[in-house]
Amino acid sequence: MIIAPTALQTPANVGVALETDKPLAGLTSIKIGGPADYFATVTHPHQLLRLVRWARTVDVPYLILGGGSNLLISDAGVRGLVIHNRCRTIRIDPAPCCVFPLDERPFLFAESGALLAGAARISINEGLTGLEWAVSVPGTVGGAVINNAGAHGGEVKDNLWDVMLLDEADEVQIVRAGALDYRYRRSNLKRGESIQGGFGPVVLSANFRLSLGDAEESRATAQGFLEHRRRTQPVEPSLGSTFTNPPGDYAGRLIDAAGLRGQRMGGIEVSRTHANFLVNAGGVGGATAADVLAMMALIQHTVHQRFGVRLEPEIQRVGDWAQ
Ligand SMILES: Cc1cc2nc3c(=O)[nH]c(=O)nc-3n(C[C@H](O)[C@H](O)[C@H](O)COP(=O)(O)OP(=O)(O)OC[C@H]3O[C@@H](n4cnc5c(N)ncnc54)[C@H](O)[C@@H]3O)c2cc1C
Repeated sequence: MIIAPTALQTPANVGVALETDKPLAGLTSIKIGGPADYFATVTHPHQLLRLVRWARTVDVPYLILGGGSNLLISDAGVRGLVIHNRCRTIRIDPAPCCVFPLDERPFLFAESGALLAGAARISINEGLTGLEWAVSVPGTVGGAVINNAGAHGGEVKDNLWDVMLLDEADEVQIVRAGALDYRYRRSNLKRGESIQGGFGPVVLSANFRLSLGDAEESRATAQGFLEHRRRTQPVEPSLGSTFTNPPGDYAGRLIDAAGLRGQRMGGIEVSRTHANFLVNAGGVGGATAADVLAMMALIQHTVHQRFGVRLEPEIQRVGDWAQ
């Protein structure tokens, strides 16, 4: 049951107030999407935990919004509660000496709303190696854990040690990375390509196991990754790669070979710099979610007709698509 906007208030112990009818486009990297019925920003894991538990008790479906860099929010917006996760603490912890010799295997602890790229930069500055690949990946640690984000040959599963979750049974659990069934841009926490708000598990924090390295070397590696991005990816608002790469090929290569580079539909364009990126050159108000969906359908149809390959979305669609 979804309660009409304005009828809900959180109890004092949750520590955050609800906004209603909150525009979401500005909180996504592609600058598209309608409003949330209810919206709250959390900055501390206790707020996140209490807000989710409260939403469950009053039966209001919720959606966790990290960096909004992998989400296509519908033009009609999201029914229920959107929780903007800004729990951003990051720290370096020594390894528990019962598991590894002290100082040999340090851990990076990050709350789930911390920026993944920020975690990577901190680890590099501390002389730790393992997360250099992540300096150029937008979004939060929570989103990266869900998606098994990756770049430049690295991915979350290579360094993730464990995560703290609020599970669907309302228990806080520490789950080892090996139990998350990681595959290419997938985990058993990811809820498919098209989701409504719901009552799913919530990532509260993560521990990454890193190695002692050479800060200068790591900095140079990270700089190389950033420069590669600047050369090969568009600067306009986008959701990054729209489709996952099919086995043995690249979605961008297929879209380009199908003659779709530069194709426009409403306010959306297949990037001329990287054909797997759909860009919203007009910013907020420039393109609609419907434009993106129509372009995705055109791409899937054309690539399938030309090459017999079915491209699978990497981005997630969320919200109310009834219109
Ligand atoms: C320019 C650009 C470049 C990109 N390059 C890459 C790349 O190289 N590699 C790559 O893998 N991705 C890339 N992406 C995609 C995106 O950065 C990743 O998918 C990122 O991990 C998404 O994180 P987020 O915080 O933005 O998640 P969001 O988009 O906010 O959310 C994604 C999903 O995760 C869920 N979620 C988020 N946080 C939590 C939480 N704490 N608990 C439970 N569920 C949660 C959301 O509800 C949603 O279902 C790129 C995107 C852009 C815009």
